[in-house]
Amino acid sequence: MGASLDTVRSPFCFLRNRNFSTSTGELAHFLASDRGVVWEQRVNDAGRTMPGHHPDTGWFCEAHADAAIELATTQTIQEALLSIRKEVSKT
Ligand SMILES: [Zn+2]
Repeated sequence: MGASLDTVRSPFCFLRNRNFSTSTGELAHFLASDRGVVWEQRVNDAGRTMPGHHPDTGWFCEAHADAAIELATTQTIQEALLSIRKEVSKT
């Protein structure tokens, strides 16, 4: 695992699907999902670092990064996105 894995994809907020400057966003690592497990298995089978974006990680802009990183410890990325969207729609 290296930082290069995460810089392949140009960052955009997963919530808004909008590009933002890397200096104002953060990458959140969520609980392993089925997709993530399969992805990691492929990396292990290849025996090397694969270019690509880990399905259990997502960039979030400054406005959503705190919530995303907090949820990332207990939820998968799909669950967390639903939770954050609910929160955002309240305001
Ligand atoms: Zn955002």
